[in-house]
Amino acid sequence: MKIISINAGSSSLKFSLFNMTDESVIASGLFERIGIEGSKYTIKFNGEKISQEIELNTHTDAVKVLLDKLVDLGIIHSLDEIDGVGHRLVHGKDKYSESVIITDEVVEDLEKFKCFAPLHNPANILGINAFREVLPNVPMVGVFDTAFHQSMDATTYLYPVPYSWYQDYGVRKYGFHGTSHRYITNMVKNILGKDEFRLISCHIGNGGSITAVKDGKCVDTSMGFTPLAGIMMGTRSGDIDPSIIPYVMEQEGKNASEVIDDLNKKSGLFGISEYSSDMRDILERCDLQDEKAVIARDKYVRRVVDYIAQYYVLLGGADVIAFTAGVGENSIPVRRQICEELACLGVKIDLDQNNKRGEVVKISTDDSSIAVYVISTDEELMIARDTLDLINR
Ligand code: AMP
Repeated sequence: MKIISINAGSSSLKFSLFNMTDESVIASGLFERIGIEGSKYTIKFNGEKISQEIELNTHTDAVKVLLDKLVDLGIIHSLDEIDGVGHRLVHGKDKYSESVIITDEVVEDLEKFKCFAPLHNPANILGINAFREVLPNVPMVGVFDTAFHQSMDATTYLYPVPYSWYQDYGVRKYGFHGTSHRYITNMVKNILGKDEFRLISCHIGNGGSITAVKDGKCVDTSMGFTPLAGIMMGTRSGDIDPSIIPYVMEQEGKNASEVIDDLNKKSGLFGISEYSSDMRDILERCDLQDEKAVIARDKYVRRVVDYIAQYYVLLGGADVIAFTAGVGENSIPVRRQICEELACLGVKIDLDQNNKRGEVVKISTDDSSIAVYVISTDEELMIARDTLDLINR
């Protein structure tokens, strides 16, 4: 069985082709600058990487080139080998708590919910329509970023604002990165060999969110109505006092969406350091005793620790803390600093283990009160698994 996982952006399309017999990646790649001058694709397979500039006016063009190349390069013999296509979908509002077979109704809902994810849902629809046009008979599955968080209760997902905002406009916490947190949850289930555990899953990359999981289900997550909420990120502020927004609007003569844009694109690590949104750059500047870089790093760590502590209480303790995504999987000093700030909870980090790399590495000592793991996330595989599961049902 071969399944393609797709992540469509407004001008890009990322894919991974899986052989589901052993869940290996046969090929993966990226089509970028779709509809913009200089469009190109990159395909990786068999340890090779090919890249070519090619005119791609629409997502359909990208899908046609992708499928032609898969056959031309001998990656597959014919398109009949593709058994299913799984799409990463961002916002399923409170209607979708699981992955679904994509029907007209799902596409209509994505359109209806686009005011909740104005950049992502329209791009997801473009990806779906492109595959519908080129592979009309292949079943497709939608995997929502918001779905895993639908198990939160009303006390958690409601904001303390007029109830009518929720009832009339859908103002509530939705949460994002659900596919990654679900993947980490499944990995922890396999590591522990049981279904009942308290997990704090830390997906910390350029975007970042922390999720509290009890017995396999999300009970709270740090992102909110949008991915701007929660911890501090590469360029996003995370939680701030909302009164800052009208104040800055007045000071800088900006409208609300311009200030929100600043909070999304010019804040976080980049905002405080005035240098970079990339943790590697920040750490380099910290080594040079750059004051703003040090504050940016420490604030980033503090916000992660704040959420871990909050979820520790919510879960009544924790069995596992898991780090994943760009910073979580790669940044040895940031993990160390976070764990050291959690010492009061009995967390003890094993510094040798923290230096190791691998798909799953336990970085806590045997006498740590909470087991701490680094686990590489794989949202593409999760999408492919859901696709296989649903088309087999
Ligand atoms: P992601 O959004 O998950 O791809 O994560 C991207 C972020 O991971 C980058 O912006 C970096 O800040 C961070 N990152 C990746 N590799 C490293 C590393 N070796 N050390 C520190 N941070 C890293």
